[in-house]
Amino acid sequence: MTTPLHLFNSLTRKLEDFQPVHAREARVYTCGPTVYNYPHIGNMRAYVFADLLGRTLSWKGYKLTHVINITDVGHLTDDADAGEDKMEKMAAERAQSIWDIAKHYTEAYWADVKALNIRQPAHWSVATDYIDEMLEFAESIADKHCYELESGLYFDVSTVEDYGRLARAVTEEGEGRIDTVEGKRNAADFAIWRKTPRGEKRQMEWDSPWGKGAPGWHLECSVMSGKLLGFPFDIHTGGIDHREIHHPNEIAQNQAFCGCGSLGEAANSGARIWMHNNFLVERSGKMSKSAGEFLRLQLLMDKGYHPLAYRLMCLQAHYRSELEFSWEGLEASLTRLKRILMGVANTKARADALPKEPEGGWTLGEAHDRIGGALLPFLARFDEAISDDLGSPQALTVFEEVLGMKKMDPVHKLQVLAAMDAVLGLGVMTLDRAELRIRPKGVATSEAEIEDIMARRKEARAAKDFATSDALRDELSAKGVEVMDGDPLGWEWQL
Ligand code: AMP
Ligand code: ZN
Repeated sequence: MTTPLHLFNSLTRKLEDFQPVHAREARVYTCGPTVYNYPHIGNMRAYVFADLLGRTLSWKGYKLTHVINITDVGHLTDDADAGEDKMEKMAAERAQSIWDIAKHYTEAYWADVKALNIRQPAHWSVATDYIDEMLEFAESIADKHCYELESGLYFDVSTVEDYGRLARAVTEEGEGRIDTVEGKRNAADFAIWRKTPRGEKRQMEWDSPWGKGAPGWHLECSVMSGKLLGFPFDIHTGGIDHREIHHPNEIAQNQAFCGCGSLGEAANSGARIWMHNNFLVERSGKMSKSAGEFLRLQLLMDKGYHPLAYRLMCLQAHYRSELEFSWEGLEASLTRLKRILMGVANTKARADALPKEPEGGWTLGEAHDRIGGALLPFLARFDEAISDDLGSPQALTVFEEVLGMKKMDPVHKLQVLAAMDAVLGLGVMTLDRAELRIRPKGVATSEAEIEDIMARRKEARAAKDFATSDALRDELSAKGVEVMDGDPLGWEWQL
């Protein structure tokens, strides 16, 4: 009745059967944001993907432990160990403390997480809370795998087997990277501790056996994933850019720490499966956080789009495909979401009771136990789609097929939809159609005011007083409200 879960492992480059390390459990680590600025919607695609994975594991009955980290130290402006710490740089530019910067942008990120219906992980692990553990980890591998230079402690990538297997283009140069630090043994060697240059003072620095300084970026993820999930854990996720440098370096550290050999055995990397979402791209290249107005979720909302329309846009593409962002695409997703909500509302109107959510949420097993007969094959097809490396586009189609079924008992139908939405996370059982009508920034007219004029216009039309009706329509138009008579989706007006 359940389809085995197949996931694409970037390390082996194969679809693999998900076999948990611990029976009936799933332990997942997701590389989180560097909180020096607002996340753009591309960044948020990475977390919608990780959330879809987590929800799928829960749906299939695994007890999920998900960790997402918050990087508040160590991420340099250049991945190849050059440049400044992103956090230090932003703090200096803003003349603010790093801690204030981190707090502000962590909260902004969490607001986006909430708006996109991304479930709370078991742990939000903050890098600066793990400095002692990072020092311990570094000390334990320093003798055998590291060497010291003027600027810090470096990891010698030739001391572990199969360095860089995860990356696509391994070359002698170490994935085509530039050897920017004088004295490195191999181009791909990376700092695990960065010493504060003599005569300088960083806002964030700690004592270490190698002098005052701060951890290298890759160290935190090895340490927090190992501490919170135990090596090897099940799945490690991130965006595809991490497949080239950050994750190969995490893997090398994990191999050193665990005393593991070849990556022929995937678990020697610290995780059994490494998964990467492809990028959200934008033709005009505005995704960058450094450009003046960049695409963040708030901008979408300011323009009047509900954030879950963006979630749906993400789900419409497979996570391993590039997704091109456009306003037209977002508009289409919003329309699709409206249709879905209209279908749910109509079904609810026909049902004499609403389905009760099982304790602990809907799972495939729960759905099977409660839902019988004609709807079971849909459940099976939905499961098949999502079990095929998280086939959300196909799963959505099955969801909509159920929505479109006419002669089905409405309560059963709602149960199936609610169960499927436990995976999709569109909030269709609780989201009200009216909530999709977000007011674009700068529109002052209140909803009550619009509804009042709309009601008066209806009365005038009923009384065949077309002069008044037209005048009211003009009044609305002057307020930026478009009246939508005869809209097939039943929307009477839009801003
Ligand atoms: P960062 O805060 O830069 O460490 O990025 C947070 C997450 O977003 C990482 O998993 C990145 O791989 C991912 N990411 C960055 N840009 C994009 C993009 N345009 N589309 C999808 N994911 C992205
Ligand atoms: Zn990471």
